[in-house]
Amino acid sequence: SDVGAQKDRVVTEEEWLQKWEMGNIGFHKEQGHPLLQKYLDLLLNGRSGLRIFFPLCGKAVEMKWLADMGHSVVGVEVSEQALKEFFSEHNLPYCEEPVPEIPGGALFQSTSGNISLYCCSIYDLSSSIVGKFDGVWDRGALVAVNPCDRQRYVSLMINLMEKNSSYLLVTVLYDPNKHKGPPFYVPESEVKSLFG
Ligand code: SAH
Repeated sequence: SDVGAQKDRVVTEEEWLQKWEMGNIGFHKEQGHPLLQKYLDLLLNGRSGLRIFFPLCGKAVEMKWLADMGHSVVGVEVSEQALKEFFSEHNLPYCEEPVPEIPGGALFQSTSGNISLYCCSIYDLSSSIVGKFDGVWDRGALVAVNPCDRQRYVSLMINLMEKNSSYLLVTVLYDPNKHKGPPFYVPESEVKSLFG
């Protein structure tokens, strides 16, 4: 495989914000992702009241699903528009507050308290700010991260995981010479070497 074709590609935060402004968000799934339904038991493993993390969350409706099941959901997203759309599209009242540890960042929290969405770059987070998680839903996240940042992203994710946590990862398979991404092509061999 020739992942080299995408190795140096960089999508800036500004470009992501523009995608949201233009409504160029083909990645958003209004009905949620069938693979989360399919593998939900692997994520939960019979446990209740989990802390579930959604890296690069967009306005993923799966956050509402898991919150409705009684879990507490934390997400991170650079686009404030995405987070506001999430709360308004689900008619969820929320409040917004600054995050002292993250200059320019903000926390959008449902009034009920079980959905906390950070508006900042994922690289601004650490376990001292958000704590650790029992489960991760990574769809459109590892594959959206710039290839040069993958190692940094994965190290952070590993840091944010509790001992007995589960991590569901969705990747896409295609010929990286034919599309520039995102989503980027992350072959299984690389997933294995990244996560160990
Ligand atoms: N996981 C979501 C969104 C996938 S698209 C879903 O399944 O629908 C990737 C998202 O990551 C975009 O909304 C983009 O704005 C956001 N993003 C890109 N780089 C980011 C970063 N460094 N930190 C936080 N969010 C980021």
